[in-house]
Amino acid sequence: MMNESYQIAVIGGGIAGQAAALTAKSLRLKLLWLGEGYGKADSAEYVRNYPAFTGNGAALAEALEKQRAAEGLVLTFARVDGVYKSADGFLLTAGKRTFSAQTVVLATGVEASGVIAGEREFLGRGVSYCAVCDGALYRGKEIAVVLGNAKFSDEVEYLAGFASTVYCVCRGFEGNFRAKNIKTVKDTPLAVIGEQRVSGLKLSQSELTVDGVFFLKNSAPPEALVGGLETDGAFVRVTRDCATNLKGLFAAGDITGTPYQFAKAAGEGLVAVYSARAYLNTLDKKNGE
Ligand SMILES: Cc1cc2nc3c(=O)[nH]c(=O)nc-3n(C[C@H](O)[C@H](O)[C@H](O)COP(=O)(O)OP(=O)(O)OC[C@H]3O[C@@H](n4cnc5c(N)ncnc54)[C@H](O)[C@@H]3O)c2cc1C
Repeated sequence: MMNESYQIAVIGGGIAGQAAALTAKSLRLKLLWLGEGYGKADSAEYVRNYPAFTGNGAALAEALEKQRAAEGLVLTFARVDGVYKSADGFLLTAGKRTFSAQTVVLATGVEASGVIAGEREFLGRGVSYCAVCDGALYRGKEIAVVLGNAKFSDEVEYLAGFASTVYCVCRGFEGNFRAKNIKTVKDTPLAVIGEQRVSGLKLSQSELTVDGVFFLKNSAPPEALVGGLETDGAFVRVTRDCATNLKGLFAAGDITGTPYQFAKAAGEGLVAVYSARAYLNTLDKKNGE
């Protein structure tokens, strides 16, 4: 696939991502807006604290949709599974697709289900968040998959094409799979266990002996997406201008920490893009333009 280059890539279709995309458009930056959906805006029962808006989450989601249409903003549907530093800025991968951009705004929100013990510690040593990236590493092996949404079922089937057995811990829905080597487990995952690498998954009533554990969720921990990114617990560490420790990479919204609020997310989306533009200007100066 052709790898077109952008000045700015915004990852995340929620309110932080939309504010960032609108700002990039108004600053006339060449924008790529990537996301898996439009975020949590529609979850709110009633929104009382977002300026100039009263109504429920569905009405807010509708207003955001109207705005996208009016401004001609198009979200490219993609689940980004890796962000890598490159000579020109960043390379982004989403399954088999790749994109490149000089700057990136990470607006991927937070996962309500949180992480379990051992999940972060074993990242890259048996824990993975990306079936397409890492599935082939488990050819002929036994693995566990933890997921809280049926929309990831195809990825479980994909993993079953490599692994000898896939133990699927489905949280909050009935797993219904085609592949015979997928075994549904009704239990609560408590901890990933192992020494140098993963050797099992501890559940509340039993323990699975496996070589790897895949967590399929809406928002993977940021350090799983971007190598070398500094975090503070579950959040990306940012300065007041939404800059991360990686030059050219900014973060906005719930992913930078509490309060989890629309106004904070939107404000940071805007700030992150102004900071990205300032960074682009420094690159232009260096290049003598
Ligand atoms: C039930 C509920 C009620 C709420 N009520 C209020 C309220 O009344 N007032 C208020 O101010 N706030 C409220 N909030 C909080 C508010 O919803 C959040 O603060 C806000 O939506 C955060 O926006 P965000 O863009 O940072 O993240 P999100 O809305 O979570 O959007 C992030 C998006 O990024 C996508 N994404 C994640 N990883 C990737 C990836 N690797 N590749 C591509 N896309 C990815 C996700 O799928 C998601 O679509 C409420 C939240 C909930 C859950």
